[in-house]
Amino acid sequence: MTLSIQPTLFAKENEAQAVVDYLQTLIKFNSVTPYQAGAIDWLESQLDRLGFECEQFTFNNVTNLIAKIHFGDGPIYAFSGHIDVVPATAEHWCVAPFSGAILNDAVYGRGAADMKGGVAAMLRATEQLVVNKEAKKGTFYWLITSDEEGEAEYGSLLIAERLAQQGVKLDGCIVGEPTSNLHVGDTIKNGRRGALSARLNIKGKAGHVAYPENTINAAHLSADVVKRLTNIDWSCDEPGSNTSLQITGINIDNVVDNMVPAQCEVTFNVRYSHGYKSADIKNEIQFVLGDLAQNLNIEWERPCESFYTSHQSQNCLLAHVEQAVLSVTGSYPLLSTSGGTSDGRFFANNHTQVIECGVRNNTIHQVNEHVPIDDLVKIESIYTTLLTTLFRC
Ligand SMILES: [Zn+2]
Repeated sequence: MTLSIQPTLFAKENEAQAVVDYLQTLIKFNSVTPYQAGAIDWLESQLDRLGFECEQFTFNNVTNLIAKIHFGDGPIYAFSGHIDVVPATAEHWCVAPFSGAILNDAVYGRGAADMKGGVAAMLRATEQLVVNKEAKKGTFYWLITSDEEGEAEYGSLLIAERLAQQGVKLDGCIVGEPTSNLHVGDTIKNGRRGALSARLNIKGKAGHVAYPENTINAAHLSADVVKRLTNIDWSCDEPGSNTSLQITGINIDNVVDNMVPAQCEVTFNVRYSHGYKSADIKNEIQFVLGDLAQNLNIEWERPCESFYTSHQSQNCLLAHVEQAVLSVTGSYPLLSTSGGTSDGRFFANNHTQVIECGVRNNTIHQVNEHVPIDDLVKIESIYTTLLTTLFRC
């Protein structure tokens, strides 16, 4: 294919400057979830300049971008990311949160680490890939949303659906979320635990506390329910990926001290191992509460499926990411499935390996979120190495 890329691209001699410029530009868009505030428009213009075909679609204030460049026959890989950020007020920040100011060799601003830094580094890495004259194979997608920090109802889920409608089967997807712990590249995520919330209504029978034999105490029932829930033995857990059930609320609406309560609401959240699907978790919970069924009503909320990518071959995406990290940092990354859920779950399936690899996560969602310039350069270098390997003929 022939590309006419602006010559200004090649004038950037200082690698750090290039990626810092991109990050500062991205931070200045006030893209508090679910609004893109111009950030996706800008990204689209950059990818268009690099020869990508771009398709943007908006639904319920959420903007999504699917951009694609086809080098030739071969594997299909994608980069997935989000440009939306959690809110930030200037209070307690040492710089304006949407300024992208540099302080002590770090770029400060909301989203610097989660995950505009990853997007900036991936953009610079993509630029290096595209301008490089070596023959390339395969197809490269950019999948960007403005709905990751919120409900994630109209973001990557819709992108994955649209790709499926178009018959696109990704071989692998790299998510640029901040996964590193103490040093860039020390930890990558090869899966995530699933999450499921529930609201349990316990129905008893009200009456005078002096005549308990004529009542069913919903508070006492709730104690039994909590004990059963927290004692479940999650026997399908995988090594390093344990299921935990936490009670998040127990609410009894009773204003007097002489009445047995007729109702109690118990809420809980389960973070579950990739040994389970959400249907298994529901079945297990319904099983342990089975004989109380006539007194219970369960509403399930916010299910997020687990996913897991294992080594499949020497050429699998996981192996390539490990090698890229090794070549840049000198050490293999630790594989982890810890932390909250991520958009990786929408792209992971039997055919698509999903790996998350990004900068350190020590300041994400915090006041004074920042990313050291050295870290940005390092992650960009990891991405560049990886992309070169994935698309080399
Ligand atoms: Zn994020």
